[in-house]
Amino acid sequence: MLNSFETLGLPNAIVRAIADLGFETPTAIQVQAVPPLLEGKTDLVALAQTGTGKTAAFGWPLLSLLDFNDRSTQALILCPTRELCIQITNDFAQFAKYTKDVRITAVYGGASIMNQISEIRKGAQIIVATPGRLVDLINRGKVNLNTIKYVVLDEADEMLNMGFKDDLDTILSETPNEKHTWLFSATMPQEVARISRQYMNKPMEITVGGRNEGNADIEHVYYIVAPRDKYRALKRIADAHPDIYSIVFCRTRRETQEIADALVKDGYPADALHGDLSQGQRDQVMGRFRKRIVQMLVATDVAARGIDVNDVTHVINYSLPDELESYTHRSGRTARAGKKGISMSLIGRNESSKIRTIERLVKQPFTQATLPTGDEVFTRKLTGMVERLQQTEVSEEIARFMPTIYDMMSDMDREDIIQRLVSAEMGRLLDYYRNEKDIQMPEAGGSNPDRGKRLFISLGKMDGLDKDSMKQLLVKQGGIPASTVLWIGVKDSYSLLEIAHEAADVLMQMMGQQRFNNRMIRMEERSGSGHGVGHGGGGKAGGFRKSYSKDKPYAKEKSYSKDFKSDPKKAHRKGSKPAFSSNGSKPKAKAGKGWFGE
Ligand code: AMP
Repeated sequence: MLNSFETLGLPNAIVRAIADLGFETPTAIQVQAVPPLLEGKTDLVALAQTGTGKTAAFGWPLLSLLDFNDRSTQALILCPTRELCIQITNDFAQFAKYTKDVRITAVYGGASIMNQISEIRKGAQIIVATPGRLVDLINRGKVNLNTIKYVVLDEADEMLNMGFKDDLDTILSETPNEKHTWLFSATMPQEVARISRQYMNKPMEITVGGRNEGNADIEHVYYIVAPRDKYRALKRIADAHPDIYSIVFCRTRRETQEIADALVKDGYPADALHGDLSQGQRDQVMGRFRKRIVQMLVATDVAARGIDVNDVTHVINYSLPDELESYTHRSGRTARAGKKGISMSLIGRNESSKIRTIERLVKQPFTQATLPTGDEVFTRKLTGMVERLQQTEVSEEIARFMPTIYDMMSDMDREDIIQRLVSAEMGRLLDYYRNEKDIQMPEAGGSNPDRGKRLFISLGKMDGLDKDSMKQLLVKQGGIPASTVLWIGVKDSYSLLEIAHEAADVLMQMMGQQRFNNRMIRMEERSGSGHGVGHGGGGKAGGFRKSYSKDKPYAKEKSYSKDFKSDPKKAHRKGSKPAFSSNGSKPKAKAGKGWFGE
């Protein structure tokens, strides 16, 4: 029986090479593109993201169609970056493992042009090139494109984004009219469509996923964070995912370097990748990222182009890209080769409309998420540490030291040893989160300040109200239509509301004159900054807690005790001790109590 790659019509030499790579079944784009391309008679426009297996989709047919007894240049593959150039060349070398006399040359900027010229002169049947360097070679008369039979434009949209429009026109007009052109692009902007119209002959069209759509294996989430809290939010994400293997996208080279430096200073395995680095430095950073010595690669859009690492777990948009279309390219760095991935964005409150635009672009929903609390982060880290401990192989070497160790620990009991071990390992993190206030954000799925006005009302759970009864009250006593109540968050002693702009003033006027349970109702407009709306209400809630407690003495007492709960230092002063002592003193309190608030 034929295996699934043979049924595509691939020759035995390629099928054997594929088997060595351990691929089991062809990907969607391979199933669709390989059989027609193998006939060698068609032009092709394929809309496909990176990570879909597209290099093989054009590589296998090319290696099957070219005549390797002939030393003339028969195929030209154009791609946007040096990294992608090298990657394609390496992939081809693996696919061509059992195909005789294949010669491939990679041609890109930032490397010796003389070596590249001599490689071409030796007779490369396939040239993989970045457009700029190829035009340079054309101008020097060092490359002959008259014998080209196939041109592949890989990541065509990226090449145009990077300003290679004129170079592409020059190259394409230098190649023979009879050639076939295969174009691959993640998105289909006007310029790519123009190239296809101008240079291609009735191309066959293939789409993997929808037009301009993102990869369905990517989960998109966003966090609304005040600008000053962004870096802390990033650290919290990293702490909550100890095995994170991520690319953190920043907008500028400066921001990239600053964030990477801060992460390194705070002990995270991070490094920066941007255009101010020399090629050698960039290669070094990428090498360390591939080996996972670096687990958080902080990069600009341009520098991250062509990164072909397969196991990236998280793409983090520290800043959203200026060109929202670039989001697809950023998020496409995760969920490659059939894996799942998460693309996270840290945004300011006034950026939610950008998220809506990106949602439309990638045709996938985004979820607003809540950052893990310090307590959650700490628990996850702790569990991870215990799991690692369980999996640690005991070295035989250690046996001869054990008598001394037992002797030194003879007056400590089991519980004592465990607590000290955890304190020694986790003390620093505990110290950090002990002093960390919750990062203030609106609740997930909650209010959207773009839609209405955010209001405070001095009634809450302690008045016996819940969401439904609050809504009824607003409609009945406030005289506004139910449809203008966009969101309600009921807290203990107050509630936050989002009311459609047209109804907000009426509501404030009406309610402000009324009593509930014999108390005057107080309403205030809240700014949309997100301050004071933290989950749990334990942090310093901007100005509003102050004004509230001035009016209502009992509330003062309540919020004081809440503060108290969320601040272990204060709790300590009042006599309750921390679960783990990070300074080595003997811990008194039981482990497992909430430390960081609720
Ligand atoms: P690409 O879209 O060409 O960047 O490919 C993404 C990754 O998928 C590369 O690392 C390929 O080696 C891998 N790949 C390509 N085809 C297959 C396949 N049929 N099965 C498993 N992995 C594949």
